[in-house]
Amino acid sequence: MKREVRMEDISDGKFYTANDLVKADCGDCEGCSACCHGMGSSIVLDPLDIYRLTSGMQVTFERLLADKIELNVVDGLILPNLKMSGERECCTFLNEEGRCSIHAIRPGICRLFPLGRYYEKGTFQYFLQIHECQKENRTKVKVKKWIDTPNLKKNEKYISDWHYFLLEVQGKLLKTEDETVKKINMFLLQSFFLEPYKAEEDFYVQFDERLAKVKETLQMIFG
Ligand code: SF4
Ligand code: SF4
Repeated sequence: MKREVRMEDISDGKFYTANDLVKADCGDCEGCSACCHGMGSSIVLDPLDIYRLTSGMQVTFERLLADKIELNVVDGLILPNLKMSGERECCTFLNEEGRCSIHAIRPGICRLFPLGRYYEKGTFQYFLQIHECQKENRTKVKVKKWIDTPNLKKNEKYISDWHYFLLEVQGKLLKTEDETVKKINMFLLQSFFLEPYKAEEDFYVQFDERLAKVKETLQMIFG
């Protein structure tokens, strides 16, 4: 999602790579679950999140849509996000003890928080969002340890590929008729989210295949 903010207003002014130390460690959150409430539609999910959730919970994307996730338009594209529910606007995966019930398969944004990504020139760097986590006295931790994601190199390539692909499509949709925009959105939803991923196979291989096919089709549509 595009954010029109100045980095100096929201960060400590530094950029980080996976091997850098950053003051992000909130000590296992210790009873705080502030960032699992009232997040609106901001915890946007990507294909890897859906692979993790559908494989880990052994459910379909459609089943998740029943009460765990929802679809919203992000800069012209329909994408899934975690659903907040109830009076306290809680993520439905937050348990009664205020802990994440799907910690091992939690979405990428939850792994990253309170870090963010700054995209530039076909790649990205990490940054620390200084106003987001409520915990004081956070300690230093290596970015890669904090993100807790296997095959981080592959993951970073995938994150870039997905981000810049969405950006390109979003740009093209701005100049496209409404009826075609709807059809493209349905096609992308089907290709990256509704079509089940094989849990026993590497996600990144499956994603790369789908991305190549989708790009071919979009090339025919957009020319
Ligand atoms: S606000 Fe910080 S301490 Fe609280 S749950 Fe989120 S990451 Fe943990
Ligand atoms: S998935 Fe887990 S960490 Fe992420 S918002 Fe929900 S409860 Fe919090």
